Amino acid sequence: MMNLEFFGAAGEVTGSCHVLRVAGKTVLLDCGLIQGSRADEERNAQPFPFDASKVDAVVLSHAHLDHCGRLPLLVKRGFRGPVYAQAASCDLVAILLADAARLEERDARYQSRKTGRRVKPLYSIDEANDAVRQLQARPYRKPFEVVPGVEVRFRDAGHILGSCSVEVRVTDGDISRRLVFSGDLGQYDTPILKDPECIDHADVVLMESTYGGRRHRDRSETIREIGEIIARAGSGKGNILIPAFAIGRSQEILYQLGKHYEEWGLHRFEIFLDSPMAIEASKVYWNNSRLYDEEATRLSEENGGMPLLPNLRLSQQTEESMAINRIRSGAIIIAGSGMCNGGRIVHHLKHNLGHSHNQVIIVGYMARGSTGRKLVDRHETVRIHGEHIKVRAQVHTVGGLSAHGDQDDLARWYECFEERPPVYLVHGEDDAREDFRNYLSGRSGAEVYAPEPGEILDLAGLD
Ligand SMILES: [Zn+2]
Ligand SMILES: [Zn+2]
Repeated sequence: MMNLEFFGAAGEVTGSCHVLRVAGKTVLLDCGLIQGSRADEERNAQPFPFDASKVDAVVLSHAHLDHCGRLPLLVKRGFRGPVYAQAASCDLVAILLADAARLEERDARYQSRKTGRRVKPLYSIDEANDAVRQLQARPYRKPFEVVPGVEVRFRDAGHILGSCSVEVRVTDGDISRRLVFSGDLGQYDTPILKDPECIDHADVVLMESTYGGRRHRDRSETIREIGEIIARAGSGKGNILIPAFAIGRSQEILYQLGKHYEEWGLHRFEIFLDSPMAIEASKVYWNNSRLYDEEATRLSEENGGMPLLPNLRLSQQTEESMAINRIRSGAIIIAGSGMCNGGRIVHHLKHNLGHSHNQVIIVGYMARGSTGRKLVDRHETVRIHGEHIKVRAQVHTVGGLSAHGDQDDLARWYECFEERPPVYLVHGEDDAREDFRNYLSGRSGAEVYAPEPGEILDLAGLD
C-alpha cells in the first residue's frame, strides 16, 4: 500500500496537512492551523480523519502556523512520534507555537469571562512545549529515513528561513515512487534567502498555488519607493511606523534598511524593532548565516555579522516599548501585529496617527476589517482602544514584498522537473488554483489536478 490522502489546504490556503500511508505506516506532511474567520478557525478543533495515536511521524515543510500550528493538538490527542523539520525551522516553530498557545490561552480566558462558561483553549502552553520536544532537526539535502519505506530529503524553498520543499521516496516491496511536496515557494531573487531549489525528478508533484493567478509587482520598485518615503521624511520632522509580521517581513525590512543605510541617510534616525517575537525570530535569522544567499553572506561578512544597522534598538520589555511613545521625531518603528489589530504597533499608531508629519508604511497584506486595511483605504478616523483617532499621518501602501512566488515563479520551479510529472495543486483558493491550472498546463503541457479534501491518490498506480 502507498497512497496520499489530501486533508487540509485542498481548496484553501491554510491548514496544510496531507496523509501519507506506506506499508502500514502513517506519516503527515505538515499539520497546519486553519486561519481566517472565526467560523473557519473553529474547524481546527474538529477530529482529525485519522487516529492521532496511530500516526508514526510528521514532516514539516516550514514554520508558518498554517503548516505546523495543529501539532500541539496532534500531541494532545496521542501522537508520540518524531516531528522532522529543517534545523532553523525547528527554532522558528518553537517561537511560533509558544506564541500561538499564549494567544489561545488569552482568548479562552476572555471568552470564559464574556460567556460565563469555561472555554478551553485549542491547546495550552504546556501542550505546545510537549510538541516542541518532539522536534527533530535535519539539514538540507541529506536524505534521512522517516519510517521504514519513507525516506525524505529537504530542499530549500526560499520562502522563509528554513523553509523546505520535501522530496519523498516511498518504497513498498519492489515498488518505489518519488513524490515532491513543494511546501510554500518563495520568489526568486529575494533578499537574505536563496532561490527555491531546482529538483529534477519526481513521479508526482504536490504544489502550492497561493498566487497562482497573479503576477507580483517588481520588488526593486517597492524598495525604491520605501527609500523615497524615508528620504522625504528625513528632511522634515516626525516618525515612521512600519507594521510588520514577526517572521520574514520584519527581517527583510531590517535587511533593506541596513543595505541602504548610507543611501537613505538612516544615521539621522533611531530604529526600533519593537516586538519580542520579531526579536527572537531575527536572532534565529542572524544565527543562521550559512543559509543566506550570496549578497546577504557578503554584506554580513563585511559588517561582522547581522544586523547591518548600528542604530538598531531591540525593545524587549513593555517599558522600553512605552518609552518609544514619548519620541516625537526621528524614530523608525517596526512593530507587530502585521495587520494593526493588536500588538505594540497599535500603541504607536495611537500616538502618531494624529500628526501630519508622521509616516506609516504598509508593507504587507491587510485583511478586510483590520485596522491596517482601514488605513490602506484612507479612512479619516480609526478606532483604537475605544477611541476615535483622526488619521492625519501620511499613509503609504507599498506592495511587492511577498514571501510567496507568483505565477511565473511557480511555473519556473515546476519546469525544473525533466519529465513534466503530474501536478496536484494545494494551498490555494479555488480561483487561484483554477487560474494556475490553466496557466501551467498551457505553458508546460503538464497534467494538473485540483484535489478535494478526502481524495486519495494511489501512488503505486502512477507510472
Ligand atoms: Zn508559509
Ligand atoms: Zn502557507
